[in-house]
Amino acid sequence: MFKKILIANRGEIAIRIIRACREMKIATVAIYSEADADSLHVRMADEAVCVGSAASKDSYLNMPNIISSAIITGAEAIHPGYAYFSEQPQFAEACEACNIVFIGPKASAIELMGDKARAKETAAKAGVPCIPGSKGIIRSEQDAFKTAAKMGYPVRLKATAGGGGRGIRVVASEEELAGQLKIATAEAQAAFGNGELYLEKEIEEPRHVEIQLLGDEHGKYVHLGERECSIQRRNQKLLEEAPSVAVTPSIRDKMGEAAVKLAKAVGYANAGTVEFLLDKHGRFYFMEMNTRVQVEHPVTEFVTGVDIVREQIRIAAGEKLGLTQKDIKINGHSIECRIIAEDPARNFAPSVGAISRYVAPGGYGVRLDTHVYSGYDIPPYYDAMLAKLIVWGKDRNEAITRMSRCLSEYEIEGVKTNIEYQKKILANSYFRSGELSTAFITRCMNGGG
Ligand code: ADP
Ligand code: ADP
Ligand code: MG
Repeated sequence: MFKKILIANRGEIAIRIIRACREMKIATVAIYSEADADSLHVRMADEAVCVGSAASKDSYLNMPNIISSAIITGAEAIHPGYAYFSEQPQFAEACEACNIVFIGPKASAIELMGDKARAKETAAKAGVPCIPGSKGIIRSEQDAFKTAAKMGYPVRLKATAGGGGRGIRVVASEEELAGQLKIATAEAQAAFGNGELYLEKEIEEPRHVEIQLLGDEHGKYVHLGERECSIQRRNQKLLEEAPSVAVTPSIRDKMGEAAVKLAKAVGYANAGTVEFLLDKHGRFYFMEMNTRVQVEHPVTEFVTGVDIVREQIRIAAGEKLGLTQKDIKINGHSIECRIIAEDPARNFAPSVGAISRYVAPGGYGVRLDTHVYSGYDIPPYYDAMLAKLIVWGKDRNEAITRMSRCLSEYEIEGVKTNIEYQKKILANSYFRSGELSTAFITRCMNGGG
């Protein structure tokens, strides 16, 4: 096992990883930007190295500084967390070139799945059902018109290099297509440095259901069941749960098998998530694969008892998965609310400032993953997520009751947060009855607050 790991991330996920390391008796090295000197992950790690100024591109995306920090401190492995370098094959390759273990899949698997259009082709070849759409990227305007006409409108344009809910445009009719193509290409080029798009049929009011899987370097795979992430705004997740009320044991088996089939096809080793859309008829379609630990991984940990970050570290160290599919049992229900510094009433605009008063919820079945504390000054440079509040209950009702109780206890003053908004979601009768779809926020919450 590793003796020392560098964590190439910040915020709650850096802390999550430090905690796993501490329980495994592994020393930790934090990296931080000048704006994050007072951040909790810096204080919690055994060592910390400042890797650059506030802007992410100068610090958390500063590859030479991060790699040299690992070398200087003698870290044998780097955990990338999510976002930043977690899905960049060049980073995984740089680690390998410097004899540092990248805690994640091989660069080749990241590359195959990171290009979303190509990932779909790989999935289709592996026999996984995919959302109907263009074969690979759109080659010409003509090509786009032909594909869209064949499928029927509405359709979706998606950036092949996209992520984090960005680079997606819904096209309602033929008249809009040419204009949207131009805008989407320019946006994708600016945001991801790659303007290539692909096109998909718009699935009507689907559920977002994803499978968590683990694969080791010895060819063994298990899946940990599904998470439902249909509660989204602007294609970004707000609240997640496990299991999904729409997933029967038979759908779970089929989806799990499909996810494992894809993982095997690309020689995937480590934790990964295969995202699907589930339609009203119980049919599911592959959407994309995230080759990293996911924000919402704790709901799976609560219902399966598997520590996903610990497994990631064990797998990267070459150990065998200690689990078989038979060992995986879903126990009870878990819900996560993303607590974000934003104003739902002002179209979820981010809010920055200092936290003047902070009281955290707690109690039976409650987990709070966060880097904030009373007096913490939220830097404006990074993601606005402040905390993940996760609860477990013996069933969905108990989990909803517990989450509502926790949200009522939670006090964050000094910045605007979405705590009240999350409470409203939990109180909504459609949410309570489990009638969910990705259209929930627009349909049932009037779009905003
Ligand atoms: P990202 O890489 O940004 O996570 P995804 O491809 O996973 O992008 O899509 C993000 C969200 O957009 C999905 O969770 C879903 O709500 C919505 N979405 C994506 N593709 C479709 C589609 N073909 N039909 C309907 N909704 C879609
Ligand atoms: P998950 O699928 O784990 O829920 P998200 O799609 O919410 O992940 O993304 C996790 C984090 O990474 C978020 O903070 C999101 O903004 C960021 N992110 C994901 N993909 C990208 C990307 N391609 N570019 C920039 N940020 C991204
Ligand atoms: Mg996605």
